[in-house]
Amino acid sequence: MAECLFCKTSEKKVVFREFGIDYLRCRNCGHLFSSFERDADYDGYFESIENEVEAIEYWNISHNKMYDAFAKKYMIGRKGRILDVGAGLGFFVKFAGEIKGWESFGVEISKGGYNFGKEKLKLKNFFCGKLEKTNFEDNSFDIITMWDVVEHLSKPHSILQKSINLLKDGGFLFLHTPNGEVQLLKSKIKKLFFGEKEGKHYLEARDHLNLYKKSTITRLLKESGFETIEFVHLPPIQSVAGKSDYIKVLAKNLWWRTSQVLYFLTFKKMNIDNLFVLAKKIS
Ligand SMILES: [Zn+2]
Repeated sequence: MAECLFCKTSEKKVVFREFGIDYLRCRNCGHLFSSFERDADYDGYFESIENEVEAIEYWNISHNKMYDAFAKKYMIGRKGRILDVGAGLGFFVKFAGEIKGWESFGVEISKGGYNFGKEKLKLKNFFCGKLEKTNFEDNSFDIITMWDVVEHLSKPHSILQKSINLLKDGGFLFLHTPNGEVQLLKSKIKKLFFGEKEGKHYLEARDHLNLYKKSTITRLLKESGFETIEFVHLPPIQSVAGKSDYIKVLAKNLWWRTSQVLYFLTFKKMNIDNLFVLAKKIS
């Protein structure tokens, strides 16, 4: 029985149904989550990279703009150790390791992703398994990143607590996750106008088990021990669910620009962008 991550109660209502799986909202705190029950240590991602070219396009090329913006903001001109958690195929680990002054590490739970990073990208500091079981020294990283990881986890507190231990005192965690409420609204509109079609993407109920908004991701990070939480905007992934489509990418970028303007005009109250969160260990 799916329950709210925060309240542990079963008081909830169905807010969306996707290919027979319900998305639920906690009646107590408003948290949005999937009723799909996935093993907490699920490691089946990237088992078969069927179409390698497409995978590379999505996981590397389409993320570059976002990674570049991140590097400019937080890495270039500084030095240190960076760890990417849930590193997937390892493209960000490779990217970060090529920036002057930085030593880059990655952890990925799926063997498929790990093998790709090791064999194809020749990553040296790339490890397979759960972050909680790794042997990194405490207080040894300046930055930990999690790109589209936290929404996949049914129980995210332990990985976040482990991240705090691994960060140096001045260090920070940077995470990227969909904005649940915005995705829900978009999915409802899509379903209303076009119906439910096989192959279309909505909220991804089998994979996105917990969907956050500003208040719930803040709560999760605070409960895990982070002291200060800040939201920023980076450019979105330049592709739509793995496929390049010029018009859709244009729309995506326009959405992002609009979100920046709205955020500014509403004194940081309204955020229709993905959530980019910077959480500091010590304020
Ligand atoms: Zn709740």
